[in-house]
Amino acid sequence: MTQRTFLNPSDQVEPTAATGASGPDSTEESAVPSRPGSPPEERKERVLHTRVPAVLERELKRFAANLRVPVSNLVRAILEDSIAAADRATLTVENQLLSAVKQLEVERERLKKKVLTDPLEHAVAFQSVTLSKPAVCARCQVEVPKGSTAQLVITAEPTTERLFACNPCATNSSSA
Ligand SMILES: [Zn+2]
Repeated sequence: MTQRTFLNPSDQVEPTAATGASGPDSTEESAVPSRPGSPPEERKERVLHTRVPAVLERELKRFAANLRVPVSNLVRAILEDSIAAADRATLTVENQLLSAVKQLEVERERLKKKVLTDPLEHAVAFQSVTLSKPAVCARCQVEVPKGSTAQLVITAEPTTERLFACNPCATNSSSA
């Protein structure tokens, strides 16, 4: 079984079918099409392809199905979690996932809450902006193309990354 893990910030799409980590629900964060003149490093969202052992994949899929969220959302939540908690220099993505899966049973409730948490929950304001680069809505994951209007999410506490929301999500959030 292949246990190779790789980060793939480019547009190169690696097929995952050979490892059993197949299926449309991979860890692909955003299907940003290649644009001439737009180097990958300028993009905000990175596409992460990772090969995982079959047992890990089963656990992740089972857990995601249980929560009725996409596997990619779950993986992201787990990674954010373990990056925050662990020494990132010594852990590979796969090791983080593996150790996270071992914690799944005990942390199920906490992760569930995290995955189901509205990313716009802590927004105090939305600022209408014109995008100079494509952005991905923090809530619905839709890609908002460059040149169109999106909502910059302003939170009371500073965040490490800028969040954007598409117009419908911002409208729904502020009227909720
Ligand atoms: Zn949205």
